[in-house]
Amino acid sequence: MDHFLYRDGELHAEDVPLRDIAQAVGTPFYVYSSATLLRHFRLFDAALEGMDHLVCYAMKALSNQAVIQLLGDAGAGMDVVSEGEYCRARAAGIPGDRIVFSGVGKTKGEMRTALTGGIRQFNVESEPEMEALSEVAVSLGLRAPITIRVNPDVDARTHAKIATGKSENKFGIPIDRARDVYAHAARLPGIEVIGIDVHIGSQLTELEPFRAAYGKVADLTEALRADGHDIRRLDLGGGLGIPYATGNANPPLPSDYGALIRESVGHLGCEIEIEPGRLIAGNAGLLVSEVIYVKQGADRQFLILDAAMNDLIRPAMYDAHHDIVPLVEPAPGAERATYDVVGPVCESGDTFARGREMAQVGPGDVVAFRSAGAYGAVMSSEYNSRPMVPEVLVQRDQFAVIRARPTFDEMIARDTLPAWL
Ligand SMILES: *Cc1c(COP(=O)(O)O)cnc(C)c1O
Repeated sequence: MDHFLYRDGELHAEDVPLRDIAQAVGTPFYVYSSATLLRHFRLFDAALEGMDHLVCYAMKALSNQAVIQLLGDAGAGMDVVSEGEYCRARAAGIPGDRIVFSGVGKTKGEMRTALTGGIRQFNVESEPEMEALSEVAVSLGLRAPITIRVNPDVDARTHAKIATGKSENKFGIPIDRARDVYAHAARLPGIEVIGIDVHIGSQLTELEPFRAAYGKVADLTEALRADGHDIRRLDLGGGLGIPYATGNANPPLPSDYGALIRESVGHLGCEIEIEPGRLIAGNAGLLVSEVIYVKQGADRQFLILDAAMNDLIRPAMYDAHHDIVPLVEPAPGAERATYDVVGPVCESGDTFARGREMAQVGPGDVVAFRSAGAYGAVMSSEYNSRPMVPEVLVQRDQFAVIRARPTFDEMIARDTLPAWL
């Protein structure tokens, strides 16, 4: 469920007509609903009620300061995957003891920043990383709290680029080696083992892969406890999918997911962490864009928008589907048309949809890509020297620009010329 609905024939974000934002900000732009962001966070929080838990928003999905602060103020922890994200979380007022640090390639510099600034735990992904972390912690006179990310060799049945829990993926340590690696961890002076971490992928649309992975984590918890480790926290990752196309079967709800967690690991008495990103942010955002031209090709019509692959890469990168709807509600029985929906960037990969049947629109009409809140703005670039797409946050009848579109002068001024030119 989201808060982007037609009212009086016009698409709104909460109580704001999107046309008003388009007029004030210009297109293209991203817009997020505070109510939807908070609703989704609270669904996860409620799903784990009664268990000691923390929902750590995976901020790589959408990491604008305003969004981090909104969720942080609501009680969310943060899952960060870089020093930059760590700094963003701290700048938004998230205390260190609510930040977990994930990622396969943490550098010593990143470890130092997080250890000195405060951290809930590192989710360690390899033995070399564990040794480096121990060294850094010892040099600071500290011990680093860790979980070790295990790779359970489970097929998440999602797009190959976002599956992370199979043995051929770069993530985690093979679960069969876990007891040895935990024994190694226990010998390191700068490491304090506190739990286990698992994250098998993103945009999962069924619960079975989670069940398989969490069952293995439960067994491992008991084995490691028998080995003498104090396993008291389980980080179960993120990955719950969202419906991208209306009419498709809906993925499981956070409440079903919570029930599965209770069933599979609830008996262990561990503190539970989850790291949802997409489900919190995905349906909380739209990309709004104006139609520049409708062009007749040899055998198809091209709908040419002012948004492009640099603003929203998901269709080009993951073959992702986004529903595209006009800001003005089509009258019942209104004409529909079939388009290849494209942007202005100079490559054929700049295609949002092929053969898409949708409301007929024309030049000057404004359309919205639904479900664009997660892995949208964060993956944008200035390819073709197109300015970074701005972001807007709505709360009830108010809206604010939370990242402005740079001017061309600002873009140019970021480059510096060598003395010899
Ligand atoms: C990307 C990622 C997440 C979030 O995944 P979603 O599919 O957005 O919920 C959580 N944990 C880790 C370690 C990740 O890399």
